[in-house]
Amino acid sequence: MQDKNLIGGQWRSAHSGETFAVCDAATGEELARVPRCGALEACDAIEAAGKALQAWSGLTASTRATVLTAIAQAMRERKQEFAQIITAESGKPIDEAQGEVDYAADYFLSAADEANQLQSETIHSRRADRALCAIPESIGIVAAITPWNFPLAMLARKTAPALAVGCTQVVKPAESTPLTALAFAQLLIDVGLPAGVVNVITGDPAAIGQAWLGDGRVRKLSFTGSTAVGRLLMKSSADQVVRLSLELGGHAPFIVFSDADIPAAVAAAVSGKFRLAGQTCVCPNRFIVADNVYSEFVDQFAAVASGLRVGRGREAGVRIGPLIDDRAIVRIRNQVKDAVAKGAKIVTGGATVPVEGCLDRFFAPTVLANATAEMLCFQEETFGPLAPIAKFETESQAIEMANATPYGLAGYIFARDPNLLERVSRQLNCGIIGVNTGVISDAYAPFGGRGWSGFGREGGRWGIEEYISWKYVCAAVNG
Ligand code: NAD
Repeated sequence: MQDKNLIGGQWRSAHSGETFAVCDAATGEELARVPRCGALEACDAIEAAGKALQAWSGLTASTRATVLTAIAQAMRERKQEFAQIITAESGKPIDEAQGEVDYAADYFLSAADEANQLQSETIHSRRADRALCAIPESIGIVAAITPWNFPLAMLARKTAPALAVGCTQVVKPAESTPLTALAFAQLLIDVGLPAGVVNVITGDPAAIGQAWLGDGRVRKLSFTGSTAVGRLLMKSSADQVVRLSLELGGHAPFIVFSDADIPAAVAAAVSGKFRLAGQTCVCPNRFIVADNVYSEFVDQFAAVASGLRVGRGREAGVRIGPLIDDRAIVRIRNQVKDAVAKGAKIVTGGATVPVEGCLDRFFAPTVLANATAEMLCFQEETFGPLAPIAKFETESQAIEMANATPYGLAGYIFARDPNLLERVSRQLNCGIIGVNTGVISDAYAPFGGRGWSGFGREGGRWGIEEYISWKYVCAAVNG
């Protein structure tokens, strides 16, 4: 397992020699110690990215596309190795970790396709005395700060488009899951990525973030994480006018209309809500169900949820692993307590479940009936396996409830009537809509949010655009 940082093609420790522990999310057992870097190493990483920039951005886009394809292939070849690391440090079930590796590889394939399409564009003007064109240039050195919940896929979403257009990159993974990023750094060396094109450091988030945003050489930061940290970074980006992509928290509504296929809606609700024990940004967080199918939906949902196996992610058949830390347990407990005090009924779950040899971090899949907009769980992102279900009578009520949040990442609608589906899709104020499906992520599509869920898009040509600075050239034509 790689436990050093990658700067300029060299495996390095922190200048101070300090390290911090990375632990198994299920047991708390130490897996490795990684460097505790700060501002000094953050600057070393910028230096290295700066040295590599000219040569990397000077390659043809199709040469870079070949490298991206090789990265995708190597990821797939190392799927088991990556999946084991992801499961150990994040706690997610092993089949979800394997799925994450495929999803991450898709971002490299998508970016390779897009790199092959990158070209200057001739612009047709109404004036005959000038010839106009637009040239897509790399924005330069870019920074990436990633969350713990998809330690490989969130990195791939940022590294693939950056490399495609010729940027070089400095990366800081989350403290709880840096080993996946370091294994990824090893893969980049193994496929022959030139030294300094991607530099990965671990350590003090605030010191590293400030060093990157305060140094005029870093021209963009792509951040995925909480809205609170996104706000801090947005403020810090002002001095050097750093371009930002912010993929922040979610609070997705999941609306079930009376004509919906209820078993299909239940299956989608279970898989969407309980993937990674509810710790994904696009997890349905608020269920809003038509009153005449309410009991049917709640009963079926609770029946399936209560049968999900809770345990260590590495064991076959486990669907619910641990929450990432004790704070996550406190947050979900508070939300359950608050909801019950305000009249919600626990249909299943509601407490932690003991798992032999493990920490007390396994929360049972929980379904709350009689949820209302006054409850905390309807106002804040839960990031845990809690499904509060509220009732609605009219379509406009459902839309109003769904949009009653400053977040705007994903939203889900279940119904049969195509006119209703189109109407409601248009009215939901979010960046991504699942129509009769709970599976929405796709490396070829524009993933991103609105409002407190951030801005910028990742995936497909939209993801590439975030790393391009268009240069418009206007040449006089002598007639
Ligand atoms: P977090 O904000 O605590 O941490 C995210 C990253 O920011 C980590 O690398 C962390 O070390 C770093 N960080 C923390 N403080 C910092 C600071 N002061 N300066 C610079 N960096 C700092 O989030 P998390 O707990 O790792 O992830 C969960 C959150 O991420 C949830 O809110 C979830 O919705 C969101 N998320 C969003 C998306 C999306 O695409 N919109 C995807 C995954 C997760």
